[in-house]
Amino acid sequence: MYEWSEEQLAIAAVVRRFVDEEIRPHLDDLEHNGVAPFDIMRKMYETFGLKEMAQENFKRQLERKVSGEEPSHASRGGDPSAQLISTIELCRVSPGFVTSLGVSTGLAAGTINKLGTPAQMQRWSLDLMTLDKIGAWAITEPDSGSDALGGMRTRATRDGNEYVLNGQKTWITNGPYADTIVLYAKLDDGSQDEVRNRKVLTFVLDRGMPGLDQAKPMRKMGQHASPTGEVFLRDVRVGRDRLLGETEEPKGGGRESAKDNFVAERAGVAAMSLGIIEECVRLSIDYAKHRTLWNKPIAEFQLIQLKLANMEIARVNVRNMIFAHIERSAAGAVPTLAEASAMKLYSAQAACQVADEAIQIFGGNGYITEYRVEQLSRDARVLRIYAGTDEMQVVAIAKDLLRS
Ligand SMILES: Cc1cc2nc3c(=O)[nH]c(=O)nc-3n(C[C@H](O)[C@H](O)[C@H](O)COP(=O)(O)OP(=O)(O)OC[C@H]3O[C@@H](n4cnc5c(N)ncnc54)[C@H](O)[C@@H]3O)c2cc1C
Repeated sequence: MYEWSEEQLAIAAVVRRFVDEEIRPHLDDLEHNGVAPFDIMRKMYETFGLKEMAQENFKRQLERKVSGEEPSHASRGGDPSAQLISTIELCRVSPGFVTSLGVSTGLAAGTINKLGTPAQMQRWSLDLMTLDKIGAWAITEPDSGSDALGGMRTRATRDGNEYVLNGQKTWITNGPYADTIVLYAKLDDGSQDEVRNRKVLTFVLDRGMPGLDQAKPMRKMGQHASPTGEVFLRDVRVGRDRLLGETEEPKGGGRESAKDNFVAERAGVAAMSLGIIEECVRLSIDYAKHRTLWNKPIAEFQLIQLKLANMEIARVNVRNMIFAHIERSAAGAVPTLAEASAMKLYSAQAACQVADEAIQIFGGNGYITEYRVEQLSRDARVLRIYAGTDEMQVVAIAKDLLRS
């Protein structure tokens, strides 16, 4: 694959139209007035029949779960191109929108589908997949970001048939407004095991449960369209029905499920990066052609041309990584953690560099919100931090290379 197909370009065109008509006009509200993106997401689902598709998808996943069938690659969806194309198009304008959507429908619902019983899927997942409810996925804590599993302090203490949850999560996307929270906690079973090595359990919590406090959105550098906040747990009492799989030993549970999510997230970040890069390249070319100094467009200055050339190199590289990912996924090949990490590391850094150079090409206007590149630059920055920092991607790649 070296070019988008006609069909893929058609998908991009309809998503772009939706973005132009339904997101751009509300960008100020999303970016500066604290308006959450959920209503626009729901409108997008309505416009493209995504709600019905989600219901069908849920039905298939539930049937597989009931029959005990392992998801084959094809049944997991195979070709990820439609989703990646939507991500690219949405990220030209609002990467925060994509973060919020991806966490709710991807991480939160995905984890319930993978680990939950059929009853748990029906209770929580369908509503998340259709966006009738909004989800959050909470693993990070103030003292255990990159060391999320080992350093986790939130604990689940057994009490008869129930668990009592205590702890704190932070930087949780959709945390302030989520109806449903998928939450990881360390089992405190009174054993002498070192806390680092204890079991990690995954629970589902509902907004309003006694002892669960979802703090207001944090002010942050970028991605203002995605609300981020802390979640506090003070003696939150949960029955086994809220423990995913209703067992402390679910297949692929706890640590493994968190790691599975890392792979999917990392590939998604590459598509987000490409959206940012393509929009910055487009805006920069246009600006360089029209900004006139010394009686000529700045596009004629070689230093500006060098910036444009470097931006184009990044665009081509990230796009080719995504093409390769689509081809391989469609053929049933799942990337290794190292491959997904390499793609995430490169593309996130490329997005940051390209957006920063775009600001430079725009000069003073680059620093002004109206010209849009400053928002894309701020939004891009977190791509090097969440879903595993740059440094943790390096660690994952090196570990894989040196394993033998
Ligand atoms: C906007 C936003 C949204 C987020 N959404 C969610 C969410 O929905 N759910 C969720 O659970 N989490 C979420 N996170 C948390 C995110 O995943 C963490 O911020 C990230 O994993 C990094 O953890 P940390 O911030 O604690 O940094 P730290 O782990 O404290 O890292 C600090 C620095 O040390 C470096 N470092 C750490 N360990 C090593 C090492 N072994 N070798 C070399 N360098 C190292 C890091 O790379 C970094 O540069 C979000 C974060 C942000 C900013």
